[in-house]
Amino acid sequence: MTGKTYATDSSPSSAPPPRARAEIDLGALRANVRALRSRVGPGVALMAVVKSDAYGHGMVPCARAALEAGAEWLGTATPQEALALRAAGVEGRLMCWLWTPGDPWRAGIDADLDMSVSGMWALREVTEAAREAGRCARIQLKADTGLGRNGCQPADWPELVAAALAAEAAGEVKVTGLWSHFACADEPGHPSIGAQLDVFHEMLAYAEKAGVAPEVRHIANSAATLTVPDSHFDLVRAGVATYGISPSPALGTSGDFGLRPVMTLSASVALVKQVPAGHGVGYGHQYHTRGETTLGLVPLGYGDGIPRHASGRGPVLVGGAWRRVAGRIAMDQFVVDLGGDTVEPGSPAVLFGPGGQGEPTAQDWADAADTIAYEIVTRIGPRVPRVYVDGPA
Ligand SMILES: *Cc1c(COP(=O)(O)O)cnc(C)c1O
Repeated sequence: MTGKTYATDSSPSSAPPPRARAEIDLGALRANVRALRSRVGPGVALMAVVKSDAYGHGMVPCARAALEAGAEWLGTATPQEALALRAAGVEGRLMCWLWTPGDPWRAGIDADLDMSVSGMWALREVTEAAREAGRCARIQLKADTGLGRNGCQPADWPELVAAALAAEAAGEVKVTGLWSHFACADEPGHPSIGAQLDVFHEMLAYAEKAGVAPEVRHIANSAATLTVPDSHFDLVRAGVATYGISPSPALGTSGDFGLRPVMTLSASVALVKQVPAGHGVGYGHQYHTRGETTLGLVPLGYGDGIPRHASGRGPVLVGGAWRRVAGRIAMDQFVVDLGGDTVEPGSPAVLFGPGGQGEPTAQDWADAADTIAYEIVTRIGPRVPRVYVDGPA
């Protein structure tokens, strides 16, 4: 979290130095959590996924805001992320799922984490840590129902379930959950969605018949939370939607789902100057001015997570109009062609935000960089201070 400014009020006097800022609207985040809650049944718990620094929005403030708005669970990828939340004093149910041999199972037990187990090596490490701790570890068995990434294959499930039940009988673990993850929930009607649900039902039935009594069964990510009600089970895990971003334009816009983007990324124009026609701009001279024009310098670059792949394409709102990145995005800066307009140095250049003030959105940058909006917000680096505001009520 180095370099981030944790301002908690929205008064302009709390503004950080003006080079650039990612304003994080915690009011919007809370509203998104409530909107997601309203899409799932009353018996279904909501897990706010805050991995990777809350998709670049700042893990601790976002975790707190999500809990305040009614999320019952938090989720992270790594145990280190989950332990950092505990170190910051964040309480409540907290699950993490990306374990590597040698990871801190003992600390996870002491911190009351729900820890995912995808295979026998993990069960061996967690039971050993539980014996050492003299305490029962909360584990959730992950099934690979077709994603082909983490999780236990159906063929290996009986062995893992039997070993987990034996560890439960020995008082070493409590199996609190059975869970899985979708491959293509962001593609409406993709046949793998139903196929994965079928496999999940079979793997659940096997485990439950063998004697596992999980508190929660879950498979839905944001896309499935929004569009596949049959996938909600006891809990849904919402990541990108919590931050007000649609999981995929193929499903709809964030507005279609009643979600509001939480991050607004802006910079202050560092220099404005008149240049003649035919002037090369930036490394490699990938852009030449067509006529005499004005150029604006935006002090953000790939060192801040602005994708270099959006060179020549990324949109920026400057002086009331969309401008395009002119030439290459450099490590620290890029240029926009203002087409003869002038703005004062220090004027705002808004790269993306909710879109309501005419600014581009993270999805527009994703389109410009041939990627997904997840990557656009998540990669905004620590050199950009996060400024927390509570937004309009
Ligand atoms: C990241 C992640 C999520 C959240 O995914 P979104 O598409 O952002 O909602 C849910 N579950 C797992 C296992 C994840 O890794």
